[in-house]
Amino acid sequence: MYSRLVKAIEKQRSNSYCLSLWSMFIRERDGHRCIICNSKKKLSAHHIIRKSFWKHLKFQTGNGITLCHVCHKDPHTGFNGRPDLSQPMDAQGGEKIDLFTGYLGALVIDSYRRNQLEEYLYHFSDGALDAFKKIQGIPEAATFEGRQIEKAYQIWNQTPRGMFEAILNSVGVTIPEDYVQNEEVTMYYSDTLKKKDGSPADVMYFRYIPPTEFKENPDDTLE
Ligand SMILES: [Zn+2]
Ligand SMILES: [Zn+2]
Repeated sequence: MYSRLVKAIEKQRSNSYCLSLWSMFIRERDGHRCIICNSKKKLSAHHIIRKSFWKHLKFQTGNGITLCHVCHKDPHTGFNGRPDLSQPMDAQGGEKIDLFTGYLGALVIDSYRRNQLEEYLYHFSDGALDAFKKIQGIPEAATFEGRQIEKAYQIWNQTPRGMFEAILNSVGVTIPEDYVQNEEVTMYYSDTLKKKDGSPADVMYFRYIPPTEFKENPDDTLE
């Protein structure tokens, strides 16, 4: 299946043909089950980071996750609360960085559980990872460990560097160029930052997004 996908892309076969091969590959890789809840009903291969965001992400194997029709509503739910699976995510209220970072983490865990550790199964190109780093404002000196999917999870899990630096600088702390955030960072203040109501903010958290929580299979619980 993978070689069919690669050949189709090389030969510049039609978009819909390549997408159908990509989708088959993702569902096969994930064992024809929803990664989040294990359901086998009404599955689709979802683009974790929307394909309109950067066209090269469209057929990368690291950018796909198998979701059932229930779990597939989450990433496509807009601010009006009504999911429209025919619409790209960006048409419905922008990036959902926390959500897609969680999916990347869930795929990493699933790959270890099922011992599927070959690179091609969850691949992101170097160009894609470089683009992610740029968006997050991460210096080249900061390097990430593991397969490309693990790096992608780590990169999206960094607090955007510009904001992080500005806040730390305001209290006289400098981050080294190669700094990599591996966990939630908690900062305690005296009087430099204020809460919305004007009172001093004495604590601030810099996110670290855990993998999306695996759920019980809704097919099982219905019986
Ligand atoms: Zn599901
Ligand atoms: Zn989708």
